[in-house]
Amino acid sequence: MDLRPSNRRIVVGLLGVMLLVLWGFVAYWSWSQRKKILVSNTVILEQLTTAAEEQTLRLFRHAETSLTVSNHWLAEHPHLDPGDTPSFIALVDRLRHMSDGMLEIRMVTRSGGLHYIPRRGPRPLADVSDRDYVKAQTRMETRGFFIGNPVISRVSGKWGIPVSIPVDKGGGDVGVLFAAIELDRITKTFEAERIKPSGSVAILRADGTFLFRVPQEDHVIGLNIADTPSFKENYALSLRGIFRSSSQFVDGKERMVSFQRLRDYPLIVIVTAGIDDLLAPWRRETATLVAIAGLVSVAIGLLALILLRAMKAEEKAQKATERARREAELILTTAGEGICGIDTAGNVTFMNPAARAMLGWEHDNPIGLNLHAANHHSRPDGSTYPGEDCPVSRTLGDGETREVLGETFWRTNGAGFPVEFIVTGILDEGTVKGAVLVFRDISDRLASEQALTLQATELSRSNADLEQFAYVASHDLREPLRQVASFVSLLERRYGPTLDGDARDYITYARDGAKRMDRLIIDLLEFSRIGHRSLPVEAVNMGDVIDEAIANLRTAIVESGAQVERSSGMPVLRLVRDDMVRLFQNLIGNALKYSHPERTPIVRVAARKDADGWVVSVADNGLGIDPQFSERIFGIFQRLHTRDKFEGTGIGLAIVKKIVERADGRVWVDSVPGEGSTFHVFLPA
Ligand code: ADP
Repeated sequence: MDLRPSNRRIVVGLLGVMLLVLWGFVAYWSWSQRKKILVSNTVILEQLTTAAEEQTLRLFRHAETSLTVSNHWLAEHPHLDPGDTPSFIALVDRLRHMSDGMLEIRMVTRSGGLHYIPRRGPRPLADVSDRDYVKAQTRMETRGFFIGNPVISRVSGKWGIPVSIPVDKGGGDVGVLFAAIELDRITKTFEAERIKPSGSVAILRADGTFLFRVPQEDHVIGLNIADTPSFKENYALSLRGIFRSSSQFVDGKERMVSFQRLRDYPLIVIVTAGIDDLLAPWRRETATLVAIAGLVSVAIGLLALILLRAMKAEEKAQKATERARREAELILTTAGEGICGIDTAGNVTFMNPAARAMLGWEHDNPIGLNLHAANHHSRPDGSTYPGEDCPVSRTLGDGETREVLGETFWRTNGAGFPVEFIVTGILDEGTVKGAVLVFRDISDRLASEQALTLQATELSRSNADLEQFAYVASHDLREPLRQVASFVSLLERRYGPTLDGDARDYITYARDGAKRMDRLIIDLLEFSRIGHRSLPVEAVNMGDVIDEAIANLRTAIVESGAQVERSSGMPVLRLVRDDMVRLFQNLIGNALKYSHPERTPIVRVAARKDADGWVVSVADNGLGIDPQFSERIFGIFQRLHTRDKFEGTGIGLAIVKKIVERADGRVWVDSVPGEGSTFHVFLPA
């Protein structure tokens, strides 16, 4: 997986979306739950309102019926005193029983005196002429069944809602029958029904006066709310309804209010429920859910953190791997050698551009092909190369590294080319997993090697020819030369006395020329003989060799009065002895020959050990050599001095050089002109 920073962004994005979904769900659930609770409570509230309306209706219908029935009795018995007549007393008692003791019917005389049934004496119990339920029966527009303002009984001291009815016929001086619905009694009924703790049930008269409320609030009883907005906008306008309000006249709490007008009485039943009460379970559930979601969010956050850290670490590791891979790839692709990877079956798993170019896979894909079948199927001569003989398959078998030279790889176009390759097994815990072939096209190298061999053969052939020619020429040249010299001698001997001076001089020049030419031919013969003869290589004591060379030069040494020294500690080396004697004889001879006219020649021969051999040097105090000629003097016929000063042919040092080179050594000269020269000869040990 390629883990770029964008992937981290994706992870963060996904986790963000998860959190969003989670909190979205919490919000939606909470909102819908709230709505559901409010809707379901609306229904409950409406049902409660209907029930309260039924109960209130029953209550007031019962009160009206009781007063009406009592009034009928008075009309039917105009001459009887209701306060003392047992049948009326029994009727009133029965009616009270039917209302569960809630209705106590009382009589008010035309002068406003209050009497119980049965009458408790001739005097009224109280004067109630000022009460609205008495006054209402004296006015035509309010006369009839009347529901009064709640009052505290002047007899019992309890709150009650008075209802009254006028007495038209009978009853003596009784003008009004009335009953007080005790608030305590209805409180019990409605208290059980209200939604606690802050829900309420109330009865409102159509003119806006509170007749009753549970829970009981004394200041609310008798309160007129006709001027309040909630009355004007709700109770005054419709028969039933539901709304939300914060009723300032109770406790200011927000409530859901349901109301319904009674069918037959100017009364409105109001049932309320505290919004807080309704939503309390929802609040608890929402809080729990929010807490859980919070915990889940924290867990997701932590998870994200851990994940991002892990991803970052992995990214870092991947980057390093990628860099290493790219570096390796760069090395492989820019390498000049063909590099090819194969699996255990010998099929190509990798091939670098150089290999592709060499094998002809620039345009086709070799991956998966068998390398032996594709590019290594035949031997250099074109005969089939069985797979089991192939060093590559052997390496696939044993994991060993093999270096192979002189095989042929075949291009896709059928042309072969010589290769040199190394095949290395890829080992994983001791098991061969494949191999890597590093190969090189050696056509150019083989061609130049071949050319070089050809050149060397050609060179040695022409050298041999040259030597053969020089030998034959010098050998055969001496014969006519000898003839010329002997006839010149004969001429001198026979006609010498008769010839004049000039003629005798000419004869002398001719004889000297022939002599010099003979010397030249002898030296040339000598030069060409080196290498022509095959003398044995043997262990040679260099001390003996140098002593022999000095001995051969005895005459010259005596003549020149020179001092020749040879140091001890000379090595024993495997060389051609005669060649070595000639070499040192030439060098010491030159040292004697090119001596300084003003000093006694001193020649010192010494030897020192070198890294891979010995350096023997011949030092003199002679004329010395100008450094610019230090190479030239080793060439054939090269001389620095004219014949009239020093005899010589210019072959001596050429012979020295040839002998040293045949012994795989080297010769060179160090010199200070006028002071002397030192010739060094390096001979390998
Ligand atoms: P030749 O001695 O026959 O002339 P060589 O090949 O031996 O030929 O020497 C080549 C030349 O090198 C000589 O002519 C001489 O000028 C110079 N030469 C050789 N050895 C010495 C030496 N020891 N000191 C000074 N010059 C030398």
